[in-house]
Amino acid sequence: MKRLMLFAVLGAVLVAAGCQDQQTSQKENTNETKITENQTENQQAEQPKEEEAAVEEEPAEAKPDQHQKEADDVIGTIEKPVTVDNPDSIEVVVNKTRQFPDGWAPKDLVEPNVPFYFNEHLEKRKMRKEAAAALEELFAASEKDGMDLVAASGYRSEARQKQIYENNVATQGQEETDKVSSRPGRSEHQSGLAIDLTSAEMALALEETFINTDEGKWLADHAYEHGFIVRYPKGKTDITGYSYEPWHIRYVGKDLAKQIQEEGVTLEEHFQMKSDLKS
Ligand SMILES: [Zn+2]
Repeated sequence: MKRLMLFAVLGAVLVAAGCQDQQTSQKENTNETKITENQTENQQAEQPKEEEAAVEEEPAEAKPDQHQKEADDVIGTIEKPVTVDNPDSIEVVVNKTRQFPDGWAPKDLVEPNVPFYFNEHLEKRKMRKEAAAALEELFAASEKDGMDLVAASGYRSEARQKQIYENNVATQGQEETDKVSSRPGRSEHQSGLAIDLTSAEMALALEETFINTDEGKWLADHAYEHGFIVRYPKGKTDITGYSYEPWHIRYVGKDLAKQIQEEGVTLEEHFQMKSDLKS
């Protein structure tokens, strides 16, 4: 009973915070109107001549085709975002300058069987099928290690994000809102591949101090084993557009998660996508 009441009270707190992409990103310049031309430096130079081809057979850092294609067109701004052409891919990169196509939604949303801090069957309980199965695996492993993780918020539709964004604009104005909230179509929660986790020790809050708890440390160390990455690492705000969020994990599949963990980089850096969020 006590626990239920705690959940009810903290539920209200989470609605307020809700990982509504309200983390302050101090480096973000919302008035940025500069349009950066696609950098030709990113483009592969002409085909290697035949005699050279024998020496260097492959580019050193080959990436999946879909990202090769995008490599020349990854620089958006808040006002002129790039629309991703691989929204269904588990490797999709969405951020403040890269958005889903209008009205896009995942087609395979299910409810993972893990503990949430609320009982209702809300939209935010859902994830894409593959990510949901991986999350169940992650929870099982964490429980085996004595962890007590609690899920807070998974899928968020474009319509819900629009509601959140517009509410914030009405109360805080657009400039302030852009610092703390994703525009509709640009929240990673729309992918159905991202979820916010917390713990009873955190009083179910989504805060940086999560990393000081056993659950936060466990997640940082083990998420990749189940195909997830901590999407917004510390000190990478100018690349991801978001402050450190040790609670927000993103499913990318086990191979990619392992690579990213070993490289110690962000999703953007892994795919060599330049961000225009830098001031
Ligand atoms: Zn989140």
